[in-house]
Amino acid sequence: MSLLQQRLAAITDTAANLNAQLFELNRLRDRVRKAKRSARRSPSTKPTESKCPACNGTGYPVVMQPVRPGRKIYSAPCTKCGGKGRITNAPN
Ligand SMILES: [Zn+2]
Repeated sequence: MSLLQQRLAAITDTAANLNAQLFELNRLRDRVRKAKRSARRSPSTKPTESKCPACNGTGYPVVMQPVRPGRKIYSAPCTKCGGKGRITNAPN
């Protein structure tokens, strides 16, 4: 094997090695991205939202008894959720 062939073999080896390292690096980067994404989705870090029980998620509770018969009733936004229909529970 000539010196030139030896050098070529060494360079090819290095290139293959670098390729493998690059592949591993990309794999790790993907894993970190996925971990970050699932951490964002995880209920332990994200405030949990639940349907408002007062208005059943509509944001406007049903008026059970009109104040005065014949009077037009304007539906007021739910006081519990502020008309959103969902209650956000702050994480402890
Ligand atoms: Zn509500």
